[in-house]
Amino acid sequence: MTADANKTSKRNEFFSELGGKLDTLREQGLYKPERVIASRQGSSVTCDDGRQLINLCANNYLGLSGDEATVQASIAATEKYGYGLSSVRFICGTQTVHKQLEKAISSFLGMEDTILYAAAFDANGGVFEPLFDEQDAIISDALNHASIIDGIRLCKAARYRYANNDMADLELQLQAAADKRHRIIVTDGVFSMDGTIAKLNEICDLADKYDALVMIDECHASGFMGATGRGTHEHHNVMGRIDIITGTLGKALGGAMGGFTAARKEVIDTLRQKSRPYLFSNTLAPSIAGASLSVLERLSSSTELRDRLHANTAFFRKEIAELGFTIKPGTHPVVPVMLFDAPVAQKFAARMYELGVLVTGFFYPVVPMGQARVRVQLSAAHTTEQLKTALTAFAQAGRELGLIK
Ligand SMILES: *Cc1c(COP(=O)(O)O)cnc(C)c1O
Repeated sequence: MTADANKTSKRNEFFSELGGKLDTLREQGLYKPERVIASRQGSSVTCDDGRQLINLCANNYLGLSGDEATVQASIAATEKYGYGLSSVRFICGTQTVHKQLEKAISSFLGMEDTILYAAAFDANGGVFEPLFDEQDAIISDALNHASIIDGIRLCKAARYRYANNDMADLELQLQAAADKRHRIIVTDGVFSMDGTIAKLNEICDLADKYDALVMIDECHASGFMGATGRGTHEHHNVMGRIDIITGTLGKALGGAMGGFTAARKEVIDTLRQKSRPYLFSNTLAPSIAGASLSVLERLSSSTELRDRLHANTAFFRKEIAELGFTIKPGTHPVVPVMLFDAPVAQKFAARMYELGVLVTGFFYPVVPMGQARVRVQLSAAHTTEQLKTALTAFAQAGRELGLIK
């Protein structure tokens, strides 16, 4: 065989290996297909097969993704600032709207300063490496989001992991890291698979005891947790005790995309100088910056959406439990309806689709083995009527599959 032919056959092998791995995923039922929505995102959506479904699986907590005022704010920002910047921030990519948004996020969260990113994934990916090195310790919750895990991997600091929301284990890890120069505890404010709220009050007390910094990822909290929607730090009454907050503009705060890190000025200035996803990636589109700004103004002037979301959550949690389903207890709009068995969760979600309700089954490896579920996410945009219709479908699918009486 000539060297060239060999190369060609190696190339072919590469592609057929990938095909084989994809087939394996399909056989194991782990392949993730994508539903195609033909309408705006909302409390109900129209799919490309023409079906209209009540949507119980978007991160659209405040119902702003398809909201007309938000859409108009994005159009107004596009008219004023154009479509895009064709630049990173530090060359010629910073407009007044970006500075205004950074200021608005800082004030909403009660932090000194804020830096924008194209996504929270980038905010988490770019936060550790510029701030910490070999001499430091990062102490991370075992269930933290993938982007935190990746961000920590890019950093040379020593890594410590504590069991999910387990304060005794966190304390052990803090003791193990006692000889490090700086220690930072990192946790999701809310864990998205379970709707569990991090015990930030206890975490802050431990941070004080062991002289550690605290960072929280507020992707499933900013805009609706706490009395005025500032987040998990407001919920736990620890505003002012958190050193770094990362979050997304792609969930409750409008739902387009974009992320941020909020912290003290020295931290944010350092990130502007050194954070790679900020330095080497394009500016957030002005339409998103303008719409996000309008969302924050709206949320600062009224808690109506946040209140409606929590009322919907309380209603759904009570009713679904009364039907006889097992849910993870709590108060967050993420409501895991436990089905335990992966094929059952898949069958259940498929039947719900036929009954006009969009929910997704989650199973291993996204959640632990034997912990399969459908995860319901409530929105301020859901009407009581929609929730009642969805509950009727839950009851029917549940009876058909022998899950409830
Ligand atoms: C969704 C999510 C992210 C990623 O947010 P994007 O802005 O979509 O990149 C990061 N962390 C947590 C906890 C999330 O839930």
